[in-house]
Amino acid sequence: MNRPFPPENGGCRSAPVLKERGQREVFCGLTGIIWLHRKMQDAFFLVVGSRTCAHLLQSAAGVMIFAEPRFGTAILEETDLAGMADAHAELDREVARLLERRPDIRQLFLVGSCPSEVIKIDLARAAERLSQVHAPHVRVLNYSGSGIETTFTQGEDACLASMVPVLKETTARELLLVGALPDVVEDQMVDLLTKMGITNLRLLPARRIDETTAVGPNTVFALTQPFLGDTHAALERRGARHITAPFPFGEEGTTAWLRAIATEFDVSEDLFDEVTSAPRARARKAIAQAAEALLGKSVFFFPDSQLEIPLARFLTRECGMSAIEVGSPYIHDALHGPDLDLLPHGPQIAEGQDVDKQLTRARNARPDLTVCGLGLANPLEAEGLSTKWAIELVFTPVHFYEQAGDLASLFARPLRRKSALRLEAAE
Ligand code: SF4
Repeated sequence: MNRPFPPENGGCRSAPVLKERGQREVFCGLTGIIWLHRKMQDAFFLVVGSRTCAHLLQSAAGVMIFAEPRFGTAILEETDLAGMADAHAELDREVARLLERRPDIRQLFLVGSCPSEVIKIDLARAAERLSQVHAPHVRVLNYSGSGIETTFTQGEDACLASMVPVLKETTARELLLVGALPDVVEDQMVDLLTKMGITNLRLLPARRIDETTAVGPNTVFALTQPFLGDTHAALERRGARHITAPFPFGEEGTTAWLRAIATEFDVSEDLFDEVTSAPRARARKAIAQAAEALLGKSVFFFPDSQLEIPLARFLTRECGMSAIEVGSPYIHDALHGPDLDLLPHGPQIAEGQDVDKQLTRARNARPDLTVCGLGLANPLEAEGLSTKWAIELVFTPVHFYEQAGDLASLFARPLRRKSALRLEAAE
């Protein structure tokens, strides 16, 4: 199913971009805590927020009852507005109580939110003060998960970016793999690279606080997620160099991503083929099976997860779909350029959102599949459009070869469901 590289009709990197700055339909950055707390097993995420934030976290997390949860909300009541000094003292007391009760916590993230009373608290200063009090056992950092003008994946970006300045300095030539992946997927990635002889690698975030994760002028880094723009900038400020590549979605994206790293580390073509040929074949077969329902269908992406551009590349080049519009909250040439190079010319590329105008375009186009946020999916389904929740793509293991078939299946499912319903209705 792979189309030629680069596409015969030219890619989308230099295509005109429709930039919209209207009302946006996005989800809150606190959501990232749901996957980050699973990944970082000695971290605790203390949201400084309102009851709304606490409810969002609970509902996003589902009914997860842990003996020792790794996130919580310090709820700031409106009355706290009166005394910021009290708010700081209360935060210090809460943190002290938490850390005394939970010696397993080695990294504490103070996570800001968007209520106005929280914005007034200087959480950076609080993190610095608390770090001094609780060092060396606990490192306290802060970032904002605020839902104002952000997309839900920016929470992870802000979290990882907050870790970069405190990484140790190194002059070693190392590969830093950046982005929170499910453990099983991360193991597959490390296994592929190790088989190619690339063993001087580090992970950000590591599963546990890792004093050996360092960064410096000889560090090269590869991103596994396309929404890590701030982390990318923070790493470059530390002197590290980005290995640009398409993102590892699908067989083609995974191969291109691995190849960029292999080239950087002078891995021979023979060894590259030896390591990748079997999983590539498996991925191609799995995609071909799963993508039957997608062949010849059209897709329309609303901007939400920031995965839109690499996924549009995967769906058009490996699953036989055509893209009508590919909207992304942000387009960052250093991150998304390689995927845009491969995305066949044709779709409207859009950055930002004016949701009403975009809904009108989607309604006029009547795509076979619309990828959008939770808030838009139900109304569009009611209008007869098939939808896929963008957030599901972040919560499901979809990277690298062994998940490529599952990735295609995620998109195929709403279309299969729709034709099954039609059949039932016809009977
Ligand atoms: S950070 Fe803002 S958008 Fe997110 S849950 Fe809290 S109040 Fe709502």
